Amino acid sequence: MQLGGKILKVLIAEDSKYYQRILQTTLEGWGLEVELACNGEQAWKILQREDGPKLAIVDWVMPKMTGIEVCERVRERLNESYIYIILLTSNSGKDDVIRGLEAGADDYIIKPFNELEFKFRIKNGKRIIDLENRIMQLALTDYLTGLLNRRAYIERVEAELERNLQAGQPVSLIMLDIDNFKKFNDNFGHLIGDKVLQNVANQLGIGVRKQDFIGRYGGEEFSVCLPEIDSKQASIIAERLRMGIKSIVLKDSDGNLIPYITASFGVSSTVGEGNSTVERLIKTADDALYIAKGSGKNRVVISRAEE
Ligand SMILES: [Mg+2]
Repeated sequence: MQLGGKILKVLIAEDSKYYQRILQTTLEGWGLEVELACNGEQAWKILQREDGPKLAIVDWVMPKMTGIEVCERVRERLNESYIYIILLTSNSGKDDVIRGLEAGADDYIIKPFNELEFKFRIKNGKRIIDLENRIMQLALTDYLTGLLNRRAYIERVEAELERNLQAGQPVSLIMLDIDNFKKFNDNFGHLIGDKVLQNVANQLGIGVRKQDFIGRYGGEEFSVCLPEIDSKQASIIAERLRMGIKSIVLKDSDGNLIPYITASFGVSSTVGEGNSTVERLIKTADDALYIAKGSGKNRVVISRAEE
């Protein structure tokens, strides 16, 4: 019996080897991925991991930290993705159930449990997690291009900057803007304008390295963040992106060729003075982009601040 959809990772925090085995076998039988913890402290550690399970089955009575305490700690976290917790208990008294829910458990299962009931409770949890994932996706991505939206992009650049500056590594940033974009909308309609944007986004995806990431910054403005390289190396990638965009072939509904699409690029990096914030990095790349526009478009300009 498969639960369907993307493979869900589930934490089983249980100190009894017997129940551990039953739970693991059952969940894996439904096609779920299982991670095990044999005490509360270990469970808490796993749940704090960014890639940790978002659904947790947590036993009430465990060494080092109780399931109740695990629940309370998880619920104290703010601004983190939701973790759905099913409390496992043999305490069937009403007070215990209330205590568990009060601590922040989403649901509870009383041992020994019925397999079908267990399955539906897991399904409920999966539904909430799928919903959260969908909301997050909608909140972070640009609908038209599937790229990060401006807010999500800037947040990601911020995190990347912090990480790389600590490690003594540079970060470069490209701002690019499609040349004369208005003419696509004016001459061919907004549907073609949208297609241009989608094709450009696609070309950017093809041209960057695996560790780079792209945001749709504004209407026809995009930005690429390139960790661990300086602006000279970043400008080589920008040049590749420029060529990629120039090679896009688009036709309108009558089969007429859309005059070729170009973009202008500004490149900046943390190497050089004062570029240690997102604002500075974007501003200097933007200034370079402005120069690229002023000197004939369809070109890459490296920020002056670094010369
Ligand atoms: Mg126990």
